Amino acid sequence: MRIYLDYNATAPVPPAVVDAVAVALRDCYGNASSVHVFGQQAKSVLDESRSAVARLIGAEPSEIVFTAGGTESDNLAVRGVAEALESAGRRHLIASAIEHEAVLNSVKALGKRGWTTTLLQVDGTGVIAPGALAAAIGDRTALVSIMLANNELGTIQPVAELAAMARARGVLVHTDAVQAIGKIPVDVRALGVDLLTLSGHKFGAPKGVGALWVRRGLALQAQSTGGRQERGRRAGTENVPGLEGLRVAADIVSRTPAAEARRIASLRDRLESGVLGLVPGSVVNGDAAARVPNTSNISFERVEGESLVIALDLEGIAVSTGSACSSGTLEPSHVLRAIGLSSSRVQSAIRFSLGPGTTEAEIDRVLDVLPPLVARLRSRGGGRG
Ligand code: PLP
Repeated sequence: MRIYLDYNATAPVPPAVVDAVAVALRDCYGNASSVHVFGQQAKSVLDESRSAVARLIGAEPSEIVFTAGGTESDNLAVRGVAEALESAGRRHLIASAIEHEAVLNSVKALGKRGWTTTLLQVDGTGVIAPGALAAAIGDRTALVSIMLANNELGTIQPVAELAAMARARGVLVHTDAVQAIGKIPVDVRALGVDLLTLSGHKFGAPKGVGALWVRRGLALQAQSTGGRQERGRRAGTENVPGLEGLRVAADIVSRTPAAEARRIASLRDRLESGVLGLVPGSVVNGDAAARVPNTSNISFERVEGESLVIALDLEGIAVSTGSACSSGTLEPSHVLRAIGLSSSRVQSAIRFSLGPGTTEAEIDRVLDVLPPLVARLRSRGGGRG
């Protein structure tokens, strides 16, 4: 039995999505910019996909800019807004300290080009205090970028409240909702933001497709230049089969009943309370209440997280030590450090992330396998202090 508990890294692709992608790849090979019928067919795939993504987040289809995923959308949001506002002298950016590298490195790059940047600290549960944002906003602030749900902890930020405060002071707001889509309801108008990032592969679409929602009328400097695709905001021939997959995945998420999130939350809670009860010296990181339903980040005293990931993998259980991009490096998680964890607790953290395919039998298997593995690693001294 192979058990996949790494949905925050990427999600399995449902059969309906696989089939739709295969059909589009075979039958819709036209270029969506061509005037002939092949082109029109491809164009209609894009139109349907745009409508499905818009429905998913309460937006208008014309506000959706297709991209190659979360990283590109984050880059386009931060750099695109910054460059559009540069000439107006608005050269200050704010982001939270726990953003994904796609946001953080865009902010850093602008910092090197003379922008002033502020990284907002979070509290011990990973949440930004609204007062911290209020204090950071100045006359020259162009954009605030705050993620809706964190990839490592699952913590949900009070984005609607933060966005209202920023917009009242004339500041644009971007939210990276990559880890929220498919886990909690996401509605751009209720959030009150100006830009929102989503990535298809986190909710069942193929890798390499995503979108940036851009509120109508907002000025954005394109980051890839070339043809006039995506209303001049993102040049390049569109990934028609991938976007057909995005349409089906978005429709599946839109139709999924709220009871499914409760089912996943109860499995996550079963896993968490089981681990805490069975493994002495285990502790949950982040905010146990304000979290997406599928994520649990747990530190195991005197165990090296990487060693535990490998030991679990040998038992057929896939988890990770943090974000997929940083795992495999020995860089300690910037998210866990930002919530003030000691370095030993950071090094001993494991992220479990569940999804639609997760079953009770799988969770019970993890609860059978994990405690003796932790005990074995500890007895070998296979961990840090
Ligand atoms: N933002 C967050 C919060 C993520 O978790 C990820 C992926 O791990 C990304 C952005 C990047 O998305 P993509 O893998 O589609 O580039």
